[in-house]
Amino acid sequence: MATESSIVRFTNCVLACCGQAKREDLFIDTGTGKIIDESDPRVDKALVVNLNGRILSPGLLEVQLNGAKGFDFSDVPVDNMESYASSFRRTSQGILEMGVTSFLPTLVTSEAQTFKIAMPIVRPNGAQRDHELGAESLGCHCEGPFLSRERKGAHPPDLLLEPVKRIESILGFYGVDSLGAPISKENAGQQISAIRKITLSSELPGMLETIRTLTREYGIVCSLGHSPATYEEGLAAVRAGANMLTHLYNAMEPCLHRSPGLVGLIGAPETDLSTPPIERPFFGLIADGVHVAPSCARMAWAVHKNGCILTTDGTAATGFDLPDGTFEWTHGRTVVKKGEKLFLEGTDTLAGGTTTLLQCVSNLIRWTGCEAAEALQTVTATPARMLRCEDTKGTLKVGADADLVVLSWSEGEKNSRELQVDEVWKFGKRCFTRKE
Ligand SMILES: [Zn+2]
Repeated sequence: MATESSIVRFTNCVLACCGQAKREDLFIDTGTGKIIDESDPRVDKALVVNLNGRILSPGLLEVQLNGAKGFDFSDVPVDNMESYASSFRRTSQGILEMGVTSFLPTLVTSEAQTFKIAMPIVRPNGAQRDHELGAESLGCHCEGPFLSRERKGAHPPDLLLEPVKRIESILGFYGVDSLGAPISKENAGQQISAIRKITLSSELPGMLETIRTLTREYGIVCSLGHSPATYEEGLAAVRAGANMLTHLYNAMEPCLHRSPGLVGLIGAPETDLSTPPIERPFFGLIADGVHVAPSCARMAWAVHKNGCILTTDGTAATGFDLPDGTFEWTHGRTVVKKGEKLFLEGTDTLAGGTTTLLQCVSNLIRWTGCEAAEALQTVTATPARMLRCEDTKGTLKVGADADLVVLSWSEGEKNSRELQVDEVWKFGKRCFTRKE
């Protein structure tokens, strides 16, 4: 969007960037929607925004969000895509107000047609750079259907599949257009795929070869989850190219001292990571106090802080004042909401989260005693590194997108402190200001 440029100087603020807090000013260009250097000759005429000592952080990045504000992204009305598109846009605007400036809309196990027709709407906003679209899609996260029946969680078992024809099965299911063309010399560096990330079970027949093709030829992030894989099977998947674990501890084997399962990968010793060298995977952690016990969240944080990515696994009930009760859900199923918990009716299977990402950040601070800037890294710089967009997202460095949140502390229950969103800026435009 070409608009007239002006410069904004944020002053009297604490910048939270890459795990550290700094008392510095920040300059942005509202025309290009990017962060600029203080040596820019235009900064003398900048509009000054005094933040009165509050935190200025990169906008939050959510990599597993199934819906919010009463709308579920997998609830795709085949015969009314206009209504789906307008609901998606309205929801993206609502997500922005929760401090999330970029996200991966997550589609869960559904019929192939659901993925194929939703994809043109949930695909990356890319070059549009339009703050009025709300939180920006960085591409779709497909959670299913290539998942294990043994660890299906709330996914409908009848729709789960195995990649019997390797990449052909993947292309056939999601559609060739959803994956885009394989990366070549001509298109290197341009994002071409509507799908950014796929959660899959690596022990399914043909999956290791499929992970190799998806990551190397298509540049798609492969995250392991809904899987009974052993530690060794998980290590093989990381060697094949997988670089993340989906909702750590949930829908995978428990971490036992002689059989640590996928969870054990975050503590892999150096000797398991050599020849050829690989890295411990990133891991999604649903820090809502429901999906993971605080002590287990703290252990994961202690052992592999740099790989920790907080997620909400948020649903239509996120950021939405849904009372306790029984509700119709996707695929004709029913869920029961009790407080912050959401169950498939008649079971103790959790059906996603209801907490906001910023609440998860406050929980992590409370559980680990870490600084706010460190906790904010798990929803900014770390997911950006995982998605390989760390120069433009999740950072306050010069040249990055001016996607920003202004945060302050409020008193929560039992004298706990909670971060709250005061302002949200997207591509250099102020889009939300909290009402007092
Ligand atoms: Zn899941």
